[in-house]
Amino acid sequence: MQIEFSGRSVAVTGGGSGIGAATARAFAALGARVGVLDLDEAGAEAVATEIGDAAMAIALDVADAEAVTQALDRLAEVQGGLDVLVSNAGILRAYTMDDMGPQDWARVLATNLSGPFHCLHAALPHLRASAQAGRGPAVINVASTTAKSISRHGGIDYTASKSGILGLTRHAAYELGPSGIRVVTVCPGPTLTSMVAAHNTEERLAATARMIPLGRWVQPEEIADVILFFASRHAAMCTGTCIEVDGGSLISNGVAH
Ligand code: NAD
Repeated sequence: MQIEFSGRSVAVTGGGSGIGAATARAFAALGARVGVLDLDEAGAEAVATEIGDAAMAIALDVADAEAVTQALDRLAEVQGGLDVLVSNAGILRAYTMDDMGPQDWARVLATNLSGPFHCLHAALPHLRASAQAGRGPAVINVASTTAKSISRHGGIDYTASKSGILGLTRHAAYELGPSGIRVVTVCPGPTLTSMVAAHNTEERLAATARMIPLGRWVQPEEIADVILFFASRHAAMCTGTCIEVDGGSLISNGVAH
C-alpha cells in the first residue's frame, strides 16, 4: 500500500500545534501542499515555516464563518484548489456544570462543533470542483473517544460537541456521497499534546496510561497516520464512518491494568 499526495491541496485547522501540526507535517512529507490554519498565528507560522515552501499559514477563528470562507477561498486560490479538509481545531475546558456558564458552553460548541460545520460549508465549492476533476476529495473531522463515552478531563460541553461531530459526519457523508465527497471522523484517545499537558499532572498522566490496554499515551503522529489513510485512495469506500485511535482506552471503560 502506497500513500502519497503529490499535487493535492490540504487544509488543516488547528495546524499550529499537537495533532494538527503532526498532520500538516505528514501530508507535506508525502507531497501535499498544506494550509496550516490556526487561531494561534505564531503557532501556525512556526509550523508552516518548518515545513517550507509546501505550506502556508493562515490565522483564523473557525467559529467565525466569514473568516473561514475567506481563509479557504484564499488557500484554494494559492494552492490551486482544495482536496482534503482536516477539521481538527478544538478546545477543552476542565470544569463541572456548577463552574461553567452559558458563555463557556457557547464558546466550546462554537469552536468544536460549529467550526467543523463552517469549514465544511465553506469548503464545499472547492471539494465539488475536486470531485469533478477526479481528485477524490475527503473531509476528516477530528472528534474524540469522548464522542462515544464521556470526557474525563473536559466539561459537558466538550462531550456534547465531540458527540455532535459524529452526527455532522454521518449527515454530511449521506448528503455528499453522490457528489463523490467522503466525510469521516477520527476519534483520538488520550494523546500527548499541549491540550493534555495543560490539564494534567505527571501522576494523572501515569494513571491514564494504566487505563490504556496498549499501556501508553497515543503520539500525535499516530493520529496523523490514520488521518492520512482516510484521506488516501486506499480509503475510497470509507465514508460516514469513524476510527478510534486510542490504544484501546474506550474498551477498557476506565478499568486500570
Ligand atoms: P492542541 O491544543 O495542541 O491543538 C489545538 C489547536 O487548535 C491549537 O493550535 C489551537 O490554537 C487551535 N484552535 C483552538 N481554537 C481554535 C479556533 N477557534 N480556531 C482555530 N484554531 C483553534 O490540541 P490537540 O490535542 O492537538 O487537539 C487537536 C484535536 O484533537 C482537538 O479537536 C481535540 O479536541 C482533539 N482530541 C485531542 C485529544 C488529546 O488527548 N490530545 C483526545 C481526543 C481528541
